[in-house]
Amino acid sequence: MALIVQKYGGTSVGSTERIKHVAGRVAAYRGKGHRVVVIVSAMSGVTDRLIGLARDIMPLPNEREMDMLLATGEQTTIALTAMALHALKVPAISLTGAQAGITTDGVHTKAKIQNITPKQVHRLLDDGNVVIVAGFQGQTPEGQITTLGRGGSDLSAIAMAGALKADLCQIYTDVDGVYTSDPRVVPSARKLGEISYDEMLELAGAGAKVMQLRSVEFAKKFKVVFEVRSSLNDNPGTIVKEETQSMESVVIRGVSLDRNQAKITLVHVPDQPGAAARIFKAIADSAINVDMIVQTASHGAGGATDISFTIDKPDLLKAKKVLDGIGNAIGFKHAAADENISKVSIVGVGMRSHSGVAAKMFEALADAGINIEMISTSEIKISVVVKADKGESATRILHRVFLE
Ligand code: ASP
Ligand code: MG
Repeated sequence: MALIVQKYGGTSVGSTERIKHVAGRVAAYRGKGHRVVVIVSAMSGVTDRLIGLARDIMPLPNEREMDMLLATGEQTTIALTAMALHALKVPAISLTGAQAGITTDGVHTKAKIQNITPKQVHRLLDDGNVVIVAGFQGQTPEGQITTLGRGGSDLSAIAMAGALKADLCQIYTDVDGVYTSDPRVVPSARKLGEISYDEMLELAGAGAKVMQLRSVEFAKKFKVVFEVRSSLNDNPGTIVKEETQSMESVVIRGVSLDRNQAKITLVHVPDQPGAAARIFKAIADSAINVDMIVQTASHGAGGATDISFTIDKPDLLKAKKVLDGIGNAIGFKHAAADENISKVSIVGVGMRSHSGVAAKMFEALADAGINIEMISTSEIKISVVVKADKGESATRILHRVFLE
């Protein structure tokens, strides 16, 4: 007899048929004597549709009202899921985030969970119910409804599993687990049996978006072991947990491709203290995230360098505007934008204890005639920027070299 937290994402509850299917799975677990808490997302497309409605009314709606609106998506799903269980004669009851005891700060639309007091959840479980909790939402200590940011149901599930000290936390989605690479790009990609939190974070940060990043960070911090698996079949998924010794024997766990980055090059930046600080302060003040940064050695009389960096593609216009505005004051010649790039990364905790990984990566790309425009590394990741039209072939080559 175990206490199991199951989270079902938008596609897994995307229609009443799918919701009935979820109810069948939940009923089967309960039939084996387990206690089950279910966290659900809004039905697929619903959150986007609600955001669209709000934007039809005004471009920048009040964020408190936005939360009031968005929370209805998950509230629809919890009620339907409870009904689908009733139809199978399984006692079940739905709870909003607030009723489940999820307390957050007051930052509307991106609230952080402060604590969870799942008294009601425990009581309802003790009475024999399946408890269905709305993901993505919570309540401030003052009783305002909040939401946790896009993809936040993952966080609700991980946090609830932590608070309940669940024996098992299963994240049901529309893929079979975490793969060595995107199977649409690399047909020979394989599902991983297990992966460490850090590898999962680096792969997600590198563009492999199986789960919300914050939820994986949270799981790492509170040591919540979870499984990512498909709601469409019964295959075992990928277990995400703390690094173990045996994980280090695999040098590279995965290769990811990120097509969502753009590169900016600032030409002829004065080589003097404070130039980089002022540039990146201006970028940060506009809430633009910078990923890789490369500065060339000083060149020319008087000393000038070129600085290139990458940002998320949707921020490119905003960044260009900011930089054009400060170019004269800082003294660089111009900001060249390049959307035509891809970032390819290899990730693995085994890198810590194996040498020559970078050399092998660069050699494989060189052999294929693929030029590297930028490089960055962390302890367990090496990323390169290549031309956009080389991204897929670079990903396949690196998968072949390191994982086949
Ligand atoms: N419904 C929310 C979203 O679409 C939360 C979630 O699905 O996790 O972002
Ligand atoms: Mg989701």
